[in-house]
Amino acid sequence: MKSFANTIESLFHKDCAACSNEELYAALLTYTKGLLQDKGYQEGKKKIYYISAEFLIGKLLSNNLINLGIYDEIAAYLNANGKSLAEIEEVELEPSLGNGGLGRLAACFLDSIATLGLPGDGIGLNYHLGLFKQKFQDNLQRETPNPWITAENCWLNPTTVSYTVPFKGFSLQSKLYDIDVAGYDNKSIRLRLFDFEAVDENMVEDGISFNKKDILHNLTLFLYPDDSDSDGQKLRIYQQYFMVSNAAQLILDEAIAKGSNLHDLADYAVVQINDTHPSMIIPEFIRLLTERGIAFEEACQIVSHVCAYTNHTILAEALEKWPSHYLNEVVPHLVPIIRQLDARIKAQYPQENVAIIDKNDVIHMAHMDIHYGFSINGVAALHTDILKNSELKAFYEIYPEKFNNKTNGITFRRWLLHCNHGLADLITSLIGDGYKKDAAELEKLLLYRDQESDEVLEKLLQIKTDAKKVCKKFILSNTGVEIDENSIFDIQVKRLHEYKRQQLNALYIIYKYLDIKRGNRPSTPITFIFGAKAAPAYVIAKDIIHLLLTLQQLIANDPEVAPYIKLVMVENYNVSAAEKLIPACDISEQISLASKEASGTGNMKFMLNGALTLGTMDGANVEICELVGQENIYIFGESSDAVIEHYAKGDYNARSIYESDARIKECVDFIVSDALLALGHEENLFRLHNELVNKDWFMTLLDFNGYAAVKDQMLEDYADRKTWAKKMLVNIAKAGFFSSDRTIAQYNTDIWKL
Ligand SMILES: *Cc1c(COP(=O)(O)O)cnc(C)c1O
Repeated sequence: MKSFANTIESLFHKDCAACSNEELYAALLTYTKGLLQDKGYQEGKKKIYYISAEFLIGKLLSNNLINLGIYDEIAAYLNANGKSLAEIEEVELEPSLGNGGLGRLAACFLDSIATLGLPGDGIGLNYHLGLFKQKFQDNLQRETPNPWITAENCWLNPTTVSYTVPFKGFSLQSKLYDIDVAGYDNKSIRLRLFDFEAVDENMVEDGISFNKKDILHNLTLFLYPDDSDSDGQKLRIYQQYFMVSNAAQLILDEAIAKGSNLHDLADYAVVQINDTHPSMIIPEFIRLLTERGIAFEEACQIVSHVCAYTNHTILAEALEKWPSHYLNEVVPHLVPIIRQLDARIKAQYPQENVAIIDKNDVIHMAHMDIHYGFSINGVAALHTDILKNSELKAFYEIYPEKFNNKTNGITFRRWLLHCNHGLADLITSLIGDGYKKDAAELEKLLLYRDQESDEVLEKLLQIKTDAKKVCKKFILSNTGVEIDENSIFDIQVKRLHEYKRQQLNALYIIYKYLDIKRGNRPSTPITFIFGAKAAPAYVIAKDIIHLLLTLQQLIANDPEVAPYIKLVMVENYNVSAAEKLIPACDISEQISLASKEASGTGNMKFMLNGALTLGTMDGANVEICELVGQENIYIFGESSDAVIEHYAKGDYNARSIYESDARIKECVDFIVSDALLALGHEENLFRLHNELVNKDWFMTLLDFNGYAAVKDQMLEDYADRKTWAKKMLVNIAKAGFFSSDRTIAQYNTDIWKL
């Protein structure tokens, strides 16, 4: 550790023991950045450019130390000097460049691209205030800015790369920042974040509101600024075009530098369009290629060999479509290109449902991706089947060869090696460390289930308890609530959305509360843990947060119930929180309405860390179930086929369930009981009650009885610790399939062909 000691000495002129945690963080950052640069970058003729509006990368220090192979050394060195790496990590601010699963997936993919030694870049935007920071006040969500870029000691490396991006009436000069992403025992790749220097963080007032029209000062201020009005929607178009114009210019420059004549661009570049936010890269490429003398028809051919599209959702409101007059107001030079692209399609396929521009002159971004990309992939087997057979059926009939599945994955470096040292060490002691590079080796753990090794099973349970103690500390500091490490940890952490059905979980907690009031006490206390941000303009989602926070207060204040159940809602759920919560979890709540969760990746993280899944047959839960077998997972709920049929027939009726089932009625009505109204707000609680009884678009009540029965069973099964531990072991052993190394290897074999 001589050279790290030298770094400390040259920065602060003192030795390690005399430094503050802030100083040691600064020294580690400088030292690590140096090592990353020394290792060099993955090079190659053809490169994958993964373009995404979000990259939810999490804190970087520990992950970089792990991937550089020096984590243990550094930790030991600090320890010997009376310092704690865990405490130093707390100094780092979590980059706020992502929102949820889609952004986290992009981050896991970068880790795996680097680890597999593939040449690649992530390309996105450098949002100064990121996604909002969530605060709870008066049992309501409040949003505040989330500044994360520090002038000093930041992972961003400024570059001299800059492009001119034309908008209607003006153009902007970008500036590129890079973040190095270390491969595990391999070279680095880069996350390339474009920024606009004149952005003014001081224009934000009153929470997160700001002048949405002041593009010269707000362009890269926030990720997903409120788009509930037309100014907000246009700002999103400004951001998206800024991202893709920079990306396209960078890609062409790099190809030319490597010897491309642009006619052969596909030999140098493949672009993965992550959801529809980067879709405008298709017409932008065509604009730039034709500007450089290539004929329109050929430009279309070139782009169609370069671009591939990943679909992440079948929720209609998330498939972007823009009125063409918005594009005319922001990027008028793209509109004639998009019209030509559309005309070519209409000439060949006159049916309205595959048009890029519909009869209302609205542009469907996903349709453009499908027609002009060479690959369309879903993100779990069920999701891809739904795309082919219902949601994108008309397209599948035209282009069956373009459709393929790539079941999502997670990087085991972050979601096991970094977040759960105890478990990683146990696994290494049992099966060696080959699993760190080949996750399929985890299956060797099954031996210890077959041998019924009490020693291994007890260690597994002990590691879980240890993780619960760490989590307990985190929850105390995050919420001020003290939880019991000997209780069952039942966790639902993910974005707040009606389709994910946090409200179903809340109804169960109400049922449990009422049951305890009647004298039926659970044998083991249960801690229900939530973490979720709601989109600032999503009213019902915020009402669900209000219900959870109000229930939390009600239960905590009730001495008859508090000893048996506790509800705690973590504030500002993010990657750092996930790293503390997931290793501590017993019951992983994956309870979306079947057909609605494209894949989920939280489900995979929990499984890998020895939680058992309570879930519907949705997204990747289906594949988890196939891998671990029915006896090692808790499944409930209506099938995706049945749900899709309910939507097609329009025959789901929440009110008739509510009126005919006394238990359901009692739980739903409790939302507007005197007890809750005394603590919460009438407006929010009545609106939510009304929504559940009269609409319930995501069929909460349909699945309530199945959910309650299976959850009750699961809580009962927890008492047989040995049987439970065997199930945990099977889940860990079978999680190898969900390594993002496997996912990325498949992207490369089937799509990128690097
Ligand atoms: C993994 C992850 C998600 C995605 O969770 P899902 O349960 O798949 O929706 C969201 N946020 C964070 C911080 C994550 O780490």
